[in-house]
Amino acid sequence: MSLIQLIYTSTVSETFEEKDLTAILASAKKANAEANITGLLCFDGNFFMQCLEGGRSQVNATYAKILSDKRHQALELLSYSTIDKRSYSQWEMGLVPKAALSRPLNLLYTASGLFEPYSMSAASADQFLRALRTAMPLL
Ligand code: FAD
Repeated sequence: MSLIQLIYTSTVSETFEEKDLTAILASAKKANAEANITGLLCFDGNFFMQCLEGGRSQVNATYAKILSDKRHQALELLSYSTIDKRSYSQWEMGLVPKAALSRPLNLLYTASGLFEPYSMSAASADQFLRALRTAMPLL
């Protein structure tokens, strides 16, 4: 089965609480391990940007669940591509430290220097996440 990489962005829902992030990560890591899905999740308190990689049907099924999750809204698909190999195989779902979403990094990929995933092209979103790999805690 082809390997797929999917990147989307979304906005936190009005009812979202900090503890929801802990619950999302716990359930994501468990379900992703079972489905052999890996990836990264960025969250700045307002926007999510997430990369899922794995088999096509597993990625599609996981994205379908994420789409209907009321803890976020306004989901937009930024990138969906076939890949030769994974970029985030160490992480069942790695949470990018908020401090890593820095102005210098944002300036590379957005006009404002802010974390604005909705304005990113597919290539920018891919490169932005790759740049964040170095900020991830070693496992
Ligand atoms: P059930 O647990 O049966 O949930 C049924 C419905 O309730 C679903 O629509 C679910 O979205 C919603 N729901 C579940 N818990 C809560 C809650 N505490 N508050 C409000 N609504 C709730 N899942 C993954 O498997 N992999 C991921 O990588 C992943 N990433 C996510 C990233 C974000 C930003 C968000 C918001 C969610 C993510 N999830 C991920 C969670 C996913 O959306 C589902 O909640 C989860 O997969 C369980 O879905 P289910 O249909 O099996 O759930």
